Amino acid sequence: MKILVLNCGSSSIKFQLFEMKDKSIPIKGIAEKVGLKGSFVRIEKANGEKIRFEGEIIDHLVGIEYILGIITSKKHGCLSKLTEINAVGHRVVNGGELFSSSVLITDEVQSEVERFCDIAPLHNPANLKGINAIKMLVPGIPQVAVFDTAFHQTLPPYAYMYAIPYSLYKKYGIRKYGFHGTSHYYISKRACEILKVDIKAQRIITVHLGNGASMAAVKDGKSIDTSMGFTPLEGLIMGTRPGDLDAGVLSFIMDKEEIGLSAMSTLVNKQSGMLGITGVSSDMREIEDAAHKNHNDRAMLGLDMYHYRVKKYIGAYASIMGGVDVIVFAGGIGENSPESREAICSGLEFLGIEFDHGKNKGLRSKEAVISTPQSRVKVMVVPTNEELVIAEDTMRIIKETKKTSSK
Ligand code: ADP
Repeated sequence: MKILVLNCGSSSIKFQLFEMKDKSIPIKGIAEKVGLKGSFVRIEKANGEKIRFEGEIIDHLVGIEYILGIITSKKHGCLSKLTEINAVGHRVVNGGELFSSSVLITDEVQSEVERFCDIAPLHNPANLKGINAIKMLVPGIPQVAVFDTAFHQTLPPYAYMYAIPYSLYKKYGIRKYGFHGTSHYYISKRACEILKVDIKAQRIITVHLGNGASMAAVKDGKSIDTSMGFTPLEGLIMGTRPGDLDAGVLSFIMDKEEIGLSAMSTLVNKQSGMLGITGVSSDMREIEDAAHKNHNDRAMLGLDMYHYRVKKYIGAYASIMGGVDVIVFAGGIGENSPESREAICSGLEFLGIEFDHGKNKGLRSKEAVISTPQSRVKVMVVPTNEELVIAEDTMRIIKETKKTSSK
């Protein structure tokens, strides 16, 4: 079975084609700057060959048509025709309170996802564009939606409610949804597989640190709290988002700077976080370099704030779970920055963490335990694989659908 996984962002389309027989990926890539000047598609084949195609990609439909063209091209592709693809799995950012697991996309599902554009205006519209593009380009192919919010649907009400008038929750669905669910699910499950322990008896703190960053408290296999909220702005400090912020700051800035809603939204989504604090970059590599090679004070301050916020959440999550057994790092920073992992775990010996500096040093993008063998709490690095979860869910749902329709 061949499954195409699509992750459509506002100006990018990531794709991976899975051969489910052996979970291999004959081709993957990304279309970038969709709808902007200088758009291009980068692909990587299973043999490691990388190719870049320049082209005008005016929208998601054109981008996906371009990608499908590459996949089926004689020169660079791996399929002779599109009908060899059995199904398409989409990452969909917000499934609201309706979807606590992945689903086959029907007209009803699509209109529900459309309804959630209201609460996820920066994300769901792009996901829908991807779904519609596939409908047009490969009519009749089954499509599955895998929601970023689904894994966090097990949060109890006292964790997901905000202390604002209850009527606003009823009227608009304002509550914590949490995101990166597919990643938190995958890394918590994979960590337990590696440790050979039963996930149903573990208190796990998952730490996904990428451009966007979030944490989750996973108790007995269920997410019971997570740091992102109604939108992906809450929680940890991120590349360009502030994370937790006194709500009073927003109206204060709007008043003093005389800016409207749209400028305020840009400020908190694109100009804050590590970029805003350091003035250097949103990219952790550049910030670490600025701090250590150039002794840039603001870069240093940014790093201190970043690590401190994660550490604070570890304390909070250990507290709500009555302790912690496993801490798992993932995401571009969690997987590749030994400095961040060390700074975050330092001083946490009281929780039962014995950090192994030797194992952590230089460790990049590899599954590993980075606590000592005696450490009561296991600290781990597990490279995330959201695409694999999407491909597996898609395959499962397609098979289930075939079974029920043949009954
Ligand atoms: P996204 O959320 O967009 O998927 P990623 O998970 O790819 O992002 O994470 C991107 C972040 O990972 C960037 O801040 C980047 O600097 C950081 N990163 C990647 N490699 C390293 C490294 N070797 N050291 C420190 N940070 C790294």
